[in-house]
Amino acid sequence: MKVAILGGGLAGISAAYHAEKNGHEAVIIEKEKELGGIARSIKWKGCIIDYGPHRFHTKVDWVEKLFKELMGKDLLVRKRLSRIYTPEGFIPYPPKPEAILKQGKKTILKIGFDYVTQKIKNKILGERKESLKDWGVNRFGETLYEIYFGRYNRKIWGVDPSMISYDWGNQRVDGLNMKNVIKKALGIGKAPRTFLTKFYYPKYGAGSFTKKFAKKVKGNKIAGSKAVKVKKKGDKWEIVHEKGTLKADKVISTIRMDDLIGMLEGVKVPKKVMKAAGELKYRSSIFVHLLVKKNSVSKDSWIYYHDPTLVTARVTQQKNFSPYCVPKGKTVLTCEIFSNPGEEPWEMSDKELIKKCEEEVRATLIGNKVELLVGKVIKYPKTYPLFLVGTEKRVKTIKDYLESIGIISTGRMGSFYHTNMDHSIIMGRKAVEMQL
Ligand SMILES: Cc1cc2nc3c(=O)[nH]c(=O)nc-3n(C[C@H](O)[C@H](O)[C@H](O)COP(=O)(O)OP(=O)(O)OC[C@H]3O[C@@H](n4cnc5c(N)ncnc54)[C@H](O)[C@@H]3O)c2cc1C
Repeated sequence: MKVAILGGGLAGISAAYHAEKNGHEAVIIEKEKELGGIARSIKWKGCIIDYGPHRFHTKVDWVEKLFKELMGKDLLVRKRLSRIYTPEGFIPYPPKPEAILKQGKKTILKIGFDYVTQKIKNKILGERKESLKDWGVNRFGETLYEIYFGRYNRKIWGVDPSMISYDWGNQRVDGLNMKNVIKKALGIGKAPRTFLTKFYYPKYGAGSFTKKFAKKVKGNKIAGSKAVKVKKKGDKWEIVHEKGTLKADKVISTIRMDDLIGMLEGVKVPKKVMKAAGELKYRSSIFVHLLVKKNSVSKDSWIYYHDPTLVTARVTQQKNFSPYCVPKGKTVLTCEIFSNPGEEPWEMSDKELIKKCEEEVRATLIGNKVELLVGKVIKYPKTYPLFLVGTEKRVKTIKDYLESIGIISTGRMGSFYHTNMDHSIIMGRKAVEMQL
């Protein structure tokens, strides 16, 4: 059986790898010049940098085995330190009881009062489960929710969390609730992903893992060629891409599901599917990498910037993921900004963005004495599926339709799900099990 795989990120690579393992022929079509999708790394000024450094962790044995086998001696186990920068200063993340105790008396009382009244409300009226705001308020009460989630999520998504789906909290902030915060502080119970203090990381960047994984795929990998049409011809398929046409028995797609709907030919796409596809929304990212002349700035793996007056939403330090990625005497601060085309940060020039981020890290992290050597801006459109209320229904409508015509749509964009690397790898294998 010959399978066409649209998209060569981790889900596409995993699908091709598993299809070949099961004796099938797989051909990946990838629009970028190299495979890897969002889990690539780039070389810059003697450094290796990810698009926002990617820690690796999984609960699934075969994925961990694969990761360890591929990385061999280039696998590092790293300590995680993450904090939050708020207008009141730094607080730890995941939340710790002592962070709550550091808030002023008035706020502590408010946190306690809101938490208890919320729990009583939940008991009497039942939990409201419509939005991300409900998710946070149910677990932490209004005040603590606002400190830890409300203002940051407004910054990430550009809309109020009351417009984001309840399910998003479950997807992303695995196992985070007051009970687990206290259990973690007392050192009892097994830590969910959110609380992990260690992670795996490839010595030479996340992209070195992705590259090694892609090398395991023996078949044809057509890179630098965007798929533009997906035509059903009887029970077979033809994929028209920029460099030619590929005939295949089956299709596994890891590209955006709404893009795929727009590419279909030889089938009649129902109106409700077109409508659902038209309603999917995304959030784009700007990565501003700042190379500074200092061996180390702090021990943080990453810092969330909750302060709404700052454009930076997260700062990661590649060197704290792997000291082999950045030369001695220097370090890279990657400032991540969430912004869509048309919004102010997206429309700023590279020079303006570098200046803005430099000012913000100087004011919050490095002071005025550290020399900024050079900056680099990468604008990456549609990095995050935007999980507005009602999204689950839209995604189901599209996925069900695609399956009904014989296409498995999977991976981060193909399932409109905030996958981590391990999830995308698992989804690639699952798609093969379903399709071949
Ligand atoms: C900023 C950021 C930080 C992250 N940090 C972590 C982390 O610390 N740990 C972790 O585990 N995960 C992390 N992730 C998630 C991780 O990157 C993803 O889960 C994973 O890389 C997604 O792989 P994928 O193959 O599903 O999707 P993608 O990587 O999006 O792959 C889809 C591929 O399809 C290609 N494509 C699109 N349209 C077409 C077309 N028409 N024709 C051909 N090709 C096309 C794209 O170019 C892309 O290569 C992070 C994600 C982001 C955005």
